[in-house]
Amino acid sequence: MKLLDGKKVAAAMYEKLKVELASLKKKKIIPKLVIIQVGDDRASLSYIRSKMKVSQNLGIKSELLKFAPKEVTTEKLIRLINRLNRDKSVNAILVQVPLPSHIYEPEVFKAINPYKDVDGFTAYNLGKTFLSTEFEELAPCTPLGIIRLLDYYKIKVTGKEAVVVGASNLTGKPMALMLINRRATVTDCHSKTRNLAEHTRRADILIVAVGKEKLITADMVKKGAVVVDIGINRNKDGKMVGDVDFEKVSKKASYITPVPGGAGPLTVASLMENICKATLKQLKKGLI
Ligand code: NAP
Repeated sequence: MKLLDGKKVAAAMYEKLKVELASLKKKKIIPKLVIIQVGDDRASLSYIRSKMKVSQNLGIKSELLKFAPKEVTTEKLIRLINRLNRDKSVNAILVQVPLPSHIYEPEVFKAINPYKDVDGFTAYNLGKTFLSTEFEELAPCTPLGIIRLLDYYKIKVTGKEAVVVGASNLTGKPMALMLINRRATVTDCHSKTRNLAEHTRRADILIVAVGKEKLITADMVKKGAVVVDIGINRNKDGKMVGDVDFEKVSKKASYITPVPGGAGPLTVASLMENICKATLKQLKKGLI
């Protein structure tokens, strides 16, 4: 079994980005990311800190606009996003999810200028991701990171049986789409899937994004499968674990991601990639 090292792949992605950022700097352009956070969700705060720290290390400017839930409404957030859309000094807008339940997330995402949508959550960017690899541009960061991981380890996707467990709009579904774009034969499982194990056992590539500790046990995995665990959970000892029973599944898999150190660093690296891409696109379109 070989460990799929997300940190190593992220480091390689940063080396490439440094070259692009240096060429932008020569043109006196330093990309700027604005993160909007509503509420005090602890996990969100730690993700935001890591996104801002990595931005800083790469020389990308970042700013956090933080609000108490009672301070904001959907309309107020949309007005803020419209202001950031017009602000030429802002190249990237990220609304940290989850938003409180009184805010209507789809309307908020819809307000983001697709050229600044570095999470790849707007219908425009999701639509482009839907079309084909050729059109994928600002793709959702977590699935994009997994594609970078598979590419780095030269894991062939074309013609393979891929099973994605989890079908959320932001993670599982775009992951499945990006695998179809690369011509895997894809099954996307969700909470209503009957006989989950029947599907997972067929997988040459198994990608899990649910949020349930030990959902995937060794008997559900084909010998020699590539297993990518996106899930994040806290076990009874407060330790971060994924959705896959790592100890037992790693004995059957040919490749497997650890948690932490797998999908997490790649999501952040893909965000940085998207910030650079968005800035370059704005430059090309004469918007900055
Ligand atoms: P989500 O929006 O809650 O979606 C969970 C998905 O899992 C849904 O599609 C749900 O089905 C499906 N599901 C629930 N129970 C299931 C079961 N027993 N069998 C099969 N499918 C089941 O979560 P998400 O945002 O996609 O995130 C999923 C996990 O990945 C979470 O643990 C999250 O923290 C983690 N994550 C990690 C990163 C990272 O950077 N490492 C990034 C993103 C997400 P329905 O659609 O039918 O409800």
